[in-house]
Formats: sequence, structure tokens, C-alpha cells
Amino acid sequence: MFTWLLKTIVGSKNVRMLKKLGPTVTRINQHDEEFKKLSDDELRAKTAAWKEQLAGIEDRAELQRKLDEILPEAFAVVKNAARRLCGTEYSVCDQPYTWNMVHFDVQLIGGICLHRGTIAEMATGEGKTLVATLPLYLNALTGRGAHLVTTNDYLARRDAETMGLVYKFLGLTVGCIQHDQYPEVRREQYHCDLTYGMNSEFGFDYLRDNGMATSKESQVQRPHYFAIVDEVDSILIDEARTPLIISGPATVSTHQFDKFKPLIEEIVRKQSMLCNRLVTETEAVFAKGENEKAADTMVKVKFGQPRNKGLMRMMEDPDRRKHIDKAELSFYTDARKPELYALKEELFFTIDERQHEADLTEQGRTFMNPEDPDAFTLPDMATAFADIDNNQALDDAAKVAEKAKHQEVTDQRSEAIHNISQLLRAYCLYEKDVQYVVEEGKVVIVDEFTGRKMSGRRWSDGLHQAVEAKEGVTIDRETQTLATITIQNYFRLYEKLAGMTGTAETEANEFHDVYKLDVAVIPTNKPIVRKDVNDLIFKTRREKYTAVIKDIAEAHAKKQPVLVGTVSVEASQVVSRMLQREKIPHAVLNAKYHMQEAEIIARAGQPGSVTVSTNMAGRGTDIKLGLGVADTGGLYVVATERHEARRIDRQLRGRCARQGDPGQSRFYVSFEDDLMRNFGAADRMTKMMERFGLQEGEALEHPWLNRSVETAQKRVEQRNYQTRKRALDYDDVMNKQREVIYGWRNEAISTEEPRPLLYETLEEHIPDKVAEFVPEEGEKNPDGLLHWCNTTFPLGLTAEAAALGSKTSQEAADFLLERIKKSYELKCKHEVPESVKHLERHCILNAIDRLWQEHLYAMDSLREAVHLRAYGQKDPLIEYKTEAYQMFTELMANIKGEVCHNLFRSTSNLEAFGAFLQSLPQFLIHADETGAQTTEHRGQPGQRPPSAPSEGEGGEISMASALQPARREVPKVGRNEPCPCGSGKKFKNCCGRGAA
Ligand code: ADP
Ligand code: MG
Repeated sequence: MFTWLLKTIVGSKNVRMLKKLGPTVTRINQHDEEFKKLSDDELRAKTAAWKEQLAGIEDRAELQRKLDEILPEAFAVVKNAARRLCGTEYSVCDQPYTWNMVHFDVQLIGGICLHRGTIAEMATGEGKTLVATLPLYLNALTGRGAHLVTTNDYLARRDAETMGLVYKFLGLTVGCIQHDQYPEVRREQYHCDLTYGMNSEFGFDYLRDNGMATSKESQVQRPHYFAIVDEVDSILIDEARTPLIISGPATVSTHQFDKFKPLIEEIVRKQSMLCNRLVTETEAVFAKGENEKAADTMVKVKFGQPRNKGLMRMMEDPDRRKHIDKAELSFYTDARKPELYALKEELFFTIDERQHEADLTEQGRTFMNPEDPDAFTLPDMATAFADIDNNQALDDAAKVAEKAKHQEVTDQRSEAIHNISQLLRAYCLYEKDVQYVVEEGKVVIVDEFTGRKMSGRRWSDGLHQAVEAKEGVTIDRETQTLATITIQNYFRLYEKLAGMTGTAETEANEFHDVYKLDVAVIPTNKPIVRKDVNDLIFKTRREKYTAVIKDIAEAHAKKQPVLVGTVSVEASQVVSRMLQREKIPHAVLNAKYHMQEAEIIARAGQPGSVTVSTNMAGRGTDIKLGLGVADTGGLYVVATERHEARRIDRQLRGRCARQGDPGQSRFYVSFEDDLMRNFGAADRMTKMMERFGLQEGEALEHPWLNRSVETAQKRVEQRNYQTRKRALDYDDVMNKQREVIYGWRNEAISTEEPRPLLYETLEEHIPDKVAEFVPEEGEKNPDGLLHWCNTTFPLGLTAEAAALGSKTSQEAADFLLERIKKSYELKCKHEVPESVKHLERHCILNAIDRLWQEHLYAMDSLREAVHLRAYGQKDPLIEYKTEAYQMFTELMANIKGEVCHNLFRSTSNLEAFGAFLQSLPQFLIHADETGAQTTEHRGQPGQRPPSAPSEGEGGEISMASALQPARREVPKVGRNEPCPCGSGKKFKNCCGRGAA
């Protein structure tokens, strides 16, 4: 029956795949027939039986085989239940709802693809919500939890409640995560057979569970088995650009945005004046017919102020535009490179709108710091280092010192340059109410794809602070990352991942590379009859909008519903104002309330309705046609602009002509659109415009032009993919570290017996310490080792007793370990037994958490720093990887050190601790006897435990000193000074990591 459908699909691999599924679909339907005979209870009984069968299977591959085996029956059970439930009335999101769906064959196919862990591309209105019930039911039978991930809270609730009818009928439990739920409630939801929830809720719960929870009971999630991501492109591609971050109060801040802000404001103003003057002057030059000269100047303006109004106006004139585009291109040829350089130098700074980059020029640097323009250039490190190496006058130590000095200057300048560059970007490329809004003293990012405010998310790399500085709101120096993960890496945690959307094909490569997800294009239930007409291309925005409004008015007059798609909130407002003027009633999606949004969209198919919306991707509510609308031609989709990504355009188009309905779509484009300005084949198009001699209000229209626009889109898509991939490359480094840390942390939380874990840490750390102080080769420092041991643990060892100098490393480590363990066990004897485990867990957790957070902060700074090293012709990613690895090794050692340090510094109650301390001398004597050494010298100054300075001859340790704070105080030392711990490293790279 699918043959006619299959023919409509391109891609023979896809066709073969679908053909293969034919027999399975037949089997599902046969089972469905059989099951009609069963009673409700008999049908339901299958769930329990399967659950029992699957419960015992540990082996992953076997489990999947078993699931594949029962798939036809299980899908049939769901379909059969759906049929039985038809006509059931219940409430969904507090609204009455009547169940009325039985799975179509194409939906069964979609379900199989999802179960296999692929992305099912199914057009809007094909009923993906229902499709998901099949694989979710099947996989929930394993008892490991199956998740459905939505783009917002409302959809999670709506879909969980709608589909919950079927699951509950079949005896499964359904949970739904909502933003305002308490941990206990969340935990219940996650322990249901199925859990619906919004993507970031899942991600944040993961971070809280693994980065912050301190007991098993406070963790809400279970291991990640299976997830289906609805609107998968929105979540895994669009949302993936900003990582999830849980932040807390920061201890330090290093930025200098406030310091540079006034200067940047001044320099931006100066440049703007300069550009305005250039534009005015150029008018005259153009008028004189000196086109090339004029065009050259305008290129300069473009570098200086890409969004200059005068420049934009000039670009409306096809003739001038042609000259300017030509000039710009010519500057990139080798012949004109020096000229380009000179031209840029006449500005204070240059901005590359395409690359989103901003840099000071020589003039700008002088302006910023007249005394020392070099303050904002990076010294040539390679040459400088080579010079130092070749300098005969310096000995090795002096060379190292000299290089360190150089590095320091470079680091400081890097930071300043970075701050300035971010401020320039904030001022010149980030517009208020477009890229962000300011609300209650906070800069809130507006998602450029959906127009939604992304509360709580922040731009990284200091950009957010730069925008805060620009807007004069409090710069959020108060926060520091406590836990972070990218959306990508969260979803990679799942053993099996699947997705569904109306538009995945254009991003198939990315899905494959990043998530190992293939895309299967599922045919529609009924043939699509949508008419996609050619783009209309206008010279100016103004002409374009006039035509759009006229078009809407005509459709509205014949009662045809219109969905107007825009690419920004700003554009939506423009359209809305123009419609008001024409007195055309309309609704605007302001994306504030998801529930209202769903209602507005649901009404959008009624006769004569006009709905204006920014970006329809990920909205997940489909538009059904009202009575008589089919006769008017169905829903008419009008887009006021081509989006950067073809996918988003396809999403918009797909909103009409669902389930075989009639429908039409049309895109309006102008040369002033950002896409066209930055990536369009503007030059060729300008020629076309001239050839046709376009009059005011006239538009170009040709399939060839559609393709040009799409080429531009492909270029942007490619660039955006690269950006995301890069971000991921960086996060991959973090991801590995996160896995290790979270693994360790989880073990500490979940183990019944934390002591072995604690001892393991000791066993790893003590030999390291021995090797550090008493290396096999090189200078040995047994006294230092003894000192460290006595200050870290209350061992009260004397040099004679320990005789570390005469032991091999192995012996020394064994000896110390034994002493520490014995002393520790003595301490535990005095503690309240029930709280010992708790103490031990916390001893590990505290060490991990404090140092890991510091580490996250340091990694952030590292990322900033390596980014700047790109100027020095080094690959920042490689630098980042190398240093991150080093830092991580240090981190692990530091954590172990801190665990040791904490071991004796916590107690369940002070009495216990006092008792321990009192029994300690006794123990020490005893231990020393068994250690076959004398104890006579134990009272000697310098050799008693320094943690007990007031200790008398008898060896009484004072409580106050023994209970030293577990937290190391960061001494007041400059970041670049040698660390007071004596490691020989710089303070900032050692104990002062993360400090100001
Ligand atoms: P999508 O997410 O694919 O755009 P939805 O899941 O929102 O589509 O479903 C679109 C509409 O189609 C919903 O109103 C749903 O009730 C309806 N629908 C889905 N599957 C069926 C079916 N098999 N029979 C009848 N109606 C269906
Ligand atoms: Mg949907």
C-alpha cells in the first residue's frame, strides 16, 4: 500500500529501509486483529508478563534482541488499546479532551524507527506525539525508565496527560517533570515507567544529582536508558548553542569591563561620527561619478560600522550597491591587501559582521592608551623566547625567570584585549531588543531562532558581562559555574537515543557526527498537496513589507487564514503595526506563555484569522483547518524573510497542508535582509536587478533566485555547525573530566561502605607524597615527608620512629599508611557509629566539590586565555587540551590531598573528638612500640605534630588547634608571584588557582 508514497521520496537508502519495514507493519496489524478478541484485562496482562520477562535480563544486547522480538506484539497492544479508548472523555491541561486516535501505518513505521534509535522525520500534523507511544511503551517494559523530551514545560504536561490515557490503561505509570516541582516529586516522576519533561529540566536534574546532591536519597534521576527527543532539531541543534549552567556565588572576578567601558563608549561614538561623515562625503563623490573611489570609502564604513544607516540606504541603490560589493571583493585579492590594511588603519576598530569579531586598530590602541599603545598588542612570544634562549649572558634559571616575566605580560595583555574586544562586540553587534532584552536589571538572551527569552542562560566568554556593562546593569560577577554540561553531552548519556521532528534532513550530517543518529524520512499518511511558490525578491525592506501586507489583506478578505512567519521579534512588531494600520485583526505570538501560545496556534486555522509568529520551530502545536477553510485554499503561510537555516523555513512551510489539507506558502525577501547582506550572492543579484530595471515596488521571482538564496543559507548553516562543533570539541575535554569526577562522587554517595573508598584515596596519595619527598633519584627530604604526615594526620611520629630515610619508598608508604589507618580507626571508635559513614562520605564530597568548582572556574579562564593565544599562531584547542589535562592531573592530586587533610578534621560530636584526642597519646606510644622504635623524643620541639602547638610533654593535643578549619585559606599573594607553598609554581597555577 505504500508504493505510491515511497515513490514520492528521494533517497534510495531510505526507500530500502522503509520497504524492509513493510512485513513488520503487516505483523503488527495482524496481532492487532487477534487482540481484538481479548478482554481489557487480558490485553493489560501482557504488560506485566513482558515486564517480568525482561526484568531479569542484564546483558544490553540481549535485552535489545528481546525487545525487537516482542516489538510487533507490543506495538499491536498499544494500537489496540488506542482503538478501545476511542471516545473516552478526560481532561488534558484542565481542558476537556476526547481520545480519538488509532495509529496509522506510517505511524507504526515511525515508531519502529524511534525504537531503533534513529530520527524519524515526520511532517507537522502527522501525529508524532502518538507515534512516540509505541517505542516508549515497548522500552518502558524494561523497567529502566523511558523519557520523552519536549521543548517546553507545557508540551511535556500536555503530551504526558494526553498519552497517559493509553499507558495507564495498559498498566504503566507516567510521570511528568515540571519546573516548579520539589526534588521528592521529581524523584517520583523519574521512577515512573515513563517520564515526560522539558530538555533543560532533564539536564539540570542531572547536574544537581551528580554535581551537588550529597546523598543517594536526594538524587532524583535513574541511569539514562532511553530517550525520544521531540522537535529534536530545536533541542539538539538550536538549543545546543548555550550550555546548561548552574551557578552560585563567585569568590573572585577578574574582568575590567567597568574600567574600559567609558573609553569604548567614546571610541564607538567617534567611529560612528567618522562613518557618518564618510557617508555624507561619499554622496558627493558618487554624484560626481567617481564610483570606485566612493565605493572604497563605503567599504571602510562597512568595516567600521556595518549597520550604519547611511550605508544601508546606499546599498538600496542597485548601482551603488554593485560598486560597493565589487570594491569589497577586490580588497580581498592579494593585490589590494596592503590597501585593505591601510584602510582599516584609518578606523579606530574594525568589525567583521560575518565572523562576529571586533578588533582595535593602531589608532584605536593609541586612543585607548596614549602613553602606551602597545598595552593592547600581544608581544611576539616566539621571537622573545628564542632571543632569551640565545642570550649567552643568562644562565638557565635566569632564562626561566625571563620567560616567566614575558608570559606574565602576555597574560595581562590578553585579558585586556579580550575585555575590549567583547565590549566592542557588545556595542556594535548586539542590539537591545533584538539579541537580548533588559528586564529587572538583567540582560536576558533572546533566542534568535524562536524569539523566546532564555532566562538563566548566559553568553559565555565574558560577552554577557560586556553587555551588562554596556547596559549599565550590575555586572554579574557574583556568579561562578558550579556545574555545567552542554545539551549534547547530556543526551549522549543515554544508552539509546531517538528523535522526531518535521525537519531533520538538512542537518542529517550533524546528527550523525555528533549523536550517531541517522535520519529516516517517513512518508506522510496522505499525499502533500501544498503549493510552495517562488520567493519574491525586493530591493528594499520597505517595499517588501508593503507587498506582504497587501498579500495578507487579500487572503484575509477572502477569509483564508494566514500564518505570518518572521525571523525576529522586531520584525513581528513591524508587521503587527502595519496590520493595525490596515485594521486587520490578528494575533501575535509573544512566546511568553506556552499555554496561550498553543491556544493561539490552535485558532490560527480558523476562517480569516491572521497570526504573526517569530519562528515556528519547536512550537509543537499543530494548526487544524476550520470549517470551509479548505475551499479558500487552506492555510496560507507568508514569510517576511528567509531564515538563516533552511530547516527553520521548512518548519514554517510545514505548518500548512497537514494531513492532505490544501495549503500554500510564499517567502518574501529583500536585499536589505541580513542573510542577503552577509551571505547572499548580492553581486549577481544586483546585476539581475539592473537588467530587469526594477521599478519601485516591483519584485524578482525565479526558481534560480530561490536557489541562490538557499546557497546563502547553506553557507550560514555550515558556519553555525562549525561553531557548535567547536564548542563541543571544547566541552568534550570537560566531559571526560566530568565523567571521572561525577563517577567518583557517585561512588562516594552510593556506596554502603565509604571507608574502602577513603582508604583507596590514601593508598593512592601517600605513595605519591613519598615519591615527591623521597624520590628514587634526586634529592631526598625525609624530614619534609614526616612533617607533612604529622601536620596532615595526628601521628606524632618522630624521625627516629619513622626512620623514613632508611626505608624504600614502598616500605615508607606501607609504614605510613598503616599508621594512618590505625590512628583513623581509633578515632572512629570514639565517634557515634551511625555518623561515621556520613562523615566519611562528606570528607570525600567536600574535597571534590570545592576543588572541582575551582577547577571549573579555572577551566573557564583557560578557555578565554587559549582563545587569545590564537593570535600567537597556536591552535587554541590543542593548547586547551594540553593544559586542561595538566590541570586535571593536579586537580586529582589536590582532591586526594584534601581528603587526607579532612580525614581527622571532622567529627560527629566534640566529645567524641575530645575522647579521641585524649586516647591519642596512649595510642601513639603503643603504636610506636609495635613500630619497634623508641618514643622518647616525641615531646621535642619541631617534631611533635605541628597541628598541636600547645601540646605539653605528655602529648596532650589542644582541641582548638586540632580542629583547624578544613578549608585552606588563600593567602594574600599576587597571582603571578611564586606560590607560598613552595611548589615553585606561580601562585595562580598552584594554590591560588581561581583566586583573584
Ligand atoms: P506533530 O507533532 O507530528 O506535528 P501532533 O502529534 O501534534 O503532530 O498531532 C497532530 C494532530 O493529529 C493532533 O491533533 C492529533 O490528535 C492528531 N492525530 C495524530 N495521530 C492521529 C491518528 N492516528 N488519528 C487521528 N488523529 C491523529
Ligand atoms: Mg509535535
